Parts: sequence; C-alpha cells; structure tokens
Amino acid sequence: MGRDEAYLPIKEAIAPYLSKKEHLDFIRRAFDYAYDKHDGQLRKSGRPYIVHPVDVAVTLAKYRVDPYTIAAGLLHDIIEDTPTEYKEIKSLFGEEVADIVEGLTKLQLLHYKGSKQTQQVKNHQKMILAMARDIRVIFVKLADRLNNMRTLSHLDQKKQIRISRETLDIFAPIAHRLGMYRLKAELEDLSFKYLYPREYQEIAQMIKDKKGHREGDIKEMEQLLTDLLEKEGFDFEISGRIKNIHSVHRKMETKHLDFEEINDLLALRIIVDTVSDCYRAIGIVHSKFIPVPGRFKDYIAMPKPNMYQSLHTTVVNKGKIYEIQIRTKEMDEIAEKGVAAHWAYKETQSSSQSKKNIENIVSSKLRWYSELIRYTEESDSDEEILSIFTDDILNANVYVFTPDGDIIDLANGSTPIDFAFRIHTKVGEKTVGAIVNGKIRPLDYKLKTGDVVEIKTSKNAVGPNDNWLKIAKTSNARSKIKHFLNRQRRESLVATGREEFERELEKRGETVEITDEMCKDLFENKGVKSAEDLYYEIGKNIISPISAVNVIVGKSNLTEEELIERINKDERQKQNRLRTLHSDVNIIVDGLDNPSVKLANCCSPVKGDDIIGYVKKSAGIVVHRKDCKNVEHFDEERLIDVYWGSNEDVKYTTMLKIIVQNRDNILAEIINAATSAKAKVQQVTAQTNQIDEGIIRLKITVQNVLELEDVIQSIQNIQGIYSIERMTQ
Ligand code: MN
Repeated sequence: MGRDEAYLPIKEAIAPYLSKKEHLDFIRRAFDYAYDKHDGQLRKSGRPYIVHPVDVAVTLAKYRVDPYTIAAGLLHDIIEDTPTEYKEIKSLFGEEVADIVEGLTKLQLLHYKGSKQTQQVKNHQKMILAMARDIRVIFVKLADRLNNMRTLSHLDQKKQIRISRETLDIFAPIAHRLGMYRLKAELEDLSFKYLYPREYQEIAQMIKDKKGHREGDIKEMEQLLTDLLEKEGFDFEISGRIKNIHSVHRKMETKHLDFEEINDLLALRIIVDTVSDCYRAIGIVHSKFIPVPGRFKDYIAMPKPNMYQSLHTTVVNKGKIYEIQIRTKEMDEIAEKGVAAHWAYKETQSSSQSKKNIENIVSSKLRWYSELIRYTEESDSDEEILSIFTDDILNANVYVFTPDGDIIDLANGSTPIDFAFRIHTKVGEKTVGAIVNGKIRPLDYKLKTGDVVEIKTSKNAVGPNDNWLKIAKTSNARSKIKHFLNRQRRESLVATGREEFERELEKRGETVEITDEMCKDLFENKGVKSAEDLYYEIGKNIISPISAVNVIVGKSNLTEEELIERINKDERQKQNRLRTLHSDVNIIVDGLDNPSVKLANCCSPVKGDDIIGYVKKSAGIVVHRKDCKNVEHFDEERLIDVYWGSNEDVKYTTMLKIIVQNRDNILAEIINAATSAKAKVQQVTAQTNQIDEGIIRLKITVQNVLELEDVIQSIQNIQGIYSIERMTQ
C-alpha cells in the first residue's frame, strides 16, 4: 500500500476541523515516521501494520482531539513493537506526544487475569484511570481497543474470548464512565458477539424483526411530532435510535423481561437549539400525547454523573408506547462523546492564544475533570457501574509494576522496602537494593504510579535495621520489620546469655548437662520453658549467670566429693569476694564495703540492662548502662562490675524519645499506651521539627526492662510512630 493511499483516511478525517499547515504537517510527519517504523510488519489480517494506527487516528479524529493526540494515536505502538525509545519520540514530536505514547506503553504491561471477581475488575479499572494522569492516554487506548475489537475475527478463538472479556469488563465500563456512549456501545456489542454468539444472533434478529414490525408506527409518530413542532415554529431535527444489543440483553437479564416487554428499544430523539426550547418542546409534546406516569426525567436540571443531559419522556399514542428524548446539539454531542466532547480541539481558538492562555485552558479542563470525579463520587446511586473515580484512587495510592507486569498498589509515599515486603516477607528481609525503571534507586525512594520496580536480594543480606522502620510506609512492611528485629534481637541475646552462663560454669569448674526439662522445672516462675529461654533471660540480664548456675548446680546430682569441693570453693570465694547489696537502687557491688551507689542520670538504667559501675573520685559509685555514650570516655581502671539485686520493690525512671507523624491525638494515644502497659508516666514534652514530625519525650517509671519493652511495644503499635529510642543524654 502506497504512502499517500494509506494516509488518505486521516486526511479526510481531520479535514473537518484541522486546516492550519503546521498541524497538517505535524500529523503527516508522525504518519510518515510510523509508516517507516512499521514498514514490513503485518497485522494478523495480512494487511500492512500501518492500517491499525491509521484507524486509531481516524477514530480519534471523530472526537476532534488535538493534533498531538492524533500524532500519539499514529505512534501508539512504536515503543512497544519497534526498536524506538521515548527520547527519540520526544526529540522528534515533543514531550506531550512522547508522554502519551509512553503512558500507553505502560498500560500494555497490564496483565488482566480474567478473574470474574468484581474487586479484581475494579482494581484494573482503577489502575488504568490512575495511571493515565493525562486523560488523552485513555482516549487513545479506547480508540486502539475499538480497532482491535473490529479486527478480532483474525485472531484465534482463545484470544477472541480473552480480549472480549477484558473489553467488556474493563474498557466498556471506562467508556461508559466517561460518557462516551457511542464507543461504549460498539465495544459492548463486539465483545458480546464473541462471548455469547448465540444470544447475540437471537437479539440482533429480534431487533431487526421488531424494527420492521414497528417501522410504520415510528414513521407515523415521527410525522406527528414534526407537524406539531413545525406549527410552533421550532428549528429541530428528529431521528430514531436503536438500543445496542448488549444493553438489550442486560436489560432482559437484570429486569427479567422478555424481549417483547422492552418498550424503549426504539427511542425518538428531538434536537433543538436552546435549553428553553427543550422545555418548551416537551410541554407541547405532553399537551398532545398522554405521558406515562413516572417516566418523565429531567437530566438537564440534574445531569447524570457522566454529564449526560437530556429530557426523557414516554408517551402513549393509539395504545402504543414511545420514548422521546429532547436535547440541544451540545447535549447530544456530550451524550455521544462524553468527556471527549469537552476535549474537542478548536483551531481558531488557539491560534491567537499565548502559551499562558493555553495552559489556562488545559488547567481549566483538568479542573473540570476533577469536578467530574468529585461529582461522580457523590451521586452514583442509580448507576450500574461501580464508582471508580475517587480521591483515594487518584491521589492516595500509587500503582507500580513488578518486572512481570503484575500490579502492586501501595500507600502514597511508599518505598521499595514496602514493595519488597508486599511481594514476600523473605524478599523484604533479603533486600539489598532497588532498581526502578531500570535505574538503581535508594531504598527510601518514593515510588510513583507506573514505576516498574525490581528488588535486588542477596543470600548474605544483613536484613532490616531500625532505620528501615523510618523508611517503610505501609503497616505491613513495618510490622514485618519489627518482627524481624525482635527475632534477631532474641537470637543475639540468646547467644550472649549462653556465653555468660558457660563462662560462669567454667569459672567454677563445673560441667552440667542442661536440658529443657531442667530449665523449665527450675525457672518456671520466670516464664522459662526451655534452655534457650533461660539463655535469653540471662542475655537480657533478668536472671544473672551467677544465680542461674547456683540454682542449676545446686539441684544437679552431685557426688559427695563434688559437694565438699564446691563448699570449699564457695568458702574461698566468700573470702576474696565481698558483696554488698545497695537496696535503695537494688545494685550489688563486688568487693567494696559500703560506698554510696547511684544510678546515672544520663542513661537511666533499668533493672535488666547491661550495667557497669564507675568509681568516682569522691568514692561514690555511679551505675551506667554499658552502651551509654559516656562510658567510652571513662578511665578503664575505675570501672567495676556491678549486678542487679533481687529486690522487687525498686522502680526505675527512664526517658524515651519518640518521633511521630504530626497528627491529632497521637500524644494522648501514646500516654494511654504507656499507662495501660503498667508504666507510670512522670513527664511528657512534645515539639515539632523542621519536617513537621513530632518529637515526644516521655519520662516513665517501670519495674524492669521487660515492662519497658512492653511499653515500647504498645507504643510501636500506634499508627504514625516512626521511631522510639531510649535517651542516653
Ligand atoms: Mn495498537
């Protein structure tokens, strides 16, 4: 097929509304480019590939879309099917066209699994709408789909059914939602034909018969109305419309009607000049024919969610029923083309527009679009189609792809970490990096709708750390990270506890075979059920290694010699070790008679913390947490071992620093969580930082680290907590 011959349909389609040379040249250039790129490729029908983009452009031209959208229609399969990149399209045809083409390419990635579940279908509809930030992407997509449906007979039956299902479930409802009636009706009928060929033929035949049968009646009514309106001096057009096959079928199914009972199969449509003519005309119709009660509908005063406007009435003439629609030309345009009618391009208007004015037009169109969205949200009660335009869809979520094209929806602000944990917990825990749209991105990268995300994992990954809790946005990822951290912490505490226990045994020259049973028997009052639990408690400093060994060795079966040996050893230890319990702070100090002992203010140790004593020059001892920053700077010779005593009455005060999302009520929830976890809240301060997070400092009193952990755990469960740490200053 020659170039000019292939171009002819476009030339004819754009002629009615585009005439400026720059526009015609631009479109021709896009055509030539597509022609060359698709050169040698064939459609399944055996025709040259170029006829497909040409048909798409012709369909778009019927909606009088702007020259960029026509060009995008011509180029829509270029990135997908030929070795062409976004950059090249951008440099040749500008960013606007390139963005539309790229938006379409992303939609191709969509995998519709053919599930009948409404939720799944709804997700896909949402997805498509959310991804197409520019509604023109949807226009091209629908035109593309229409052409594919029209040429579906060339594919095998399996594909026919899959594509028809997808069209009926996803694309026809979107066309309906956008008020593009004509396109929606054709998509529905074509899909219906492939999915239910027998029903399709039956209804098509019945419509044909009934039309023939009623032809005379309709003609007569049309004449009566024409005479009536001409007499009143109206300027008008009148025509008959036939319901599409799929909607007849749906009506029969949902309302349990026989074909004969559908009386609005044929509707008479009257187009007049003005809105007041509409009301005047309906008044005249009602004065002559008896209206059927309850069938008059004023969609002019109260447009449908998709902006459809019209007056509907049903009247009786000679015992027969007729539906009549009255509207203006503009309303008719919108009834047929929906949202697309508002996007219709007017050359004359834009010729004198400055760039700024064009921007204004675009933004006012977008505003209109968002108003439609809001409107749709409010009043969708009588619609059969699910409401799919909500703020939630367009703003609150991001939709991203796996490299295989599966869709993952995440909260706004989500990062690759959220994505990784959504795929699988194991993936999340082994994550080492992220590749977004082919580029390496940091783990705190904010994902955007349409991103293709690939997670790099490694067997040797260290796994989540505390910082990940700040990066992760979804509660799913956060709870999995917390779980991982707790588990990891337990493992390391168990290892520490085992080491300390074994060192203590070795020091005393004891060997004991430890069993779970034994530990359970001896330490059940401490919640211990196994040897691992015991090590864990030792690791946390809740049970000291000394007392653990005492209990276990004391109860194990010793021979007489061993017993004597142990007593002797204990004696020796008593001689060179003087131990003093300072009951006010519940601290045992080795080898010193009676010094004053205080808990450090900087790190506020709590019973169970790993601690160390520091001998001050004034002879007192200050007890710090081993991980206190100040300890690093101390003179090592003055550090001495200290242990927690068994006094249960002492309470400990400590400080928590909590970074939170700055939202109402969060402080109250934190205090509530702390007190319900048995802690006593002494003092609270709150402030915000530069990035509008809240910083809360909480001074609380607890009995030991277990209680403190409970407090931290319950605060962590509150929504909007970014981090919690114990203060060391
Ligand atoms: Mn295509």
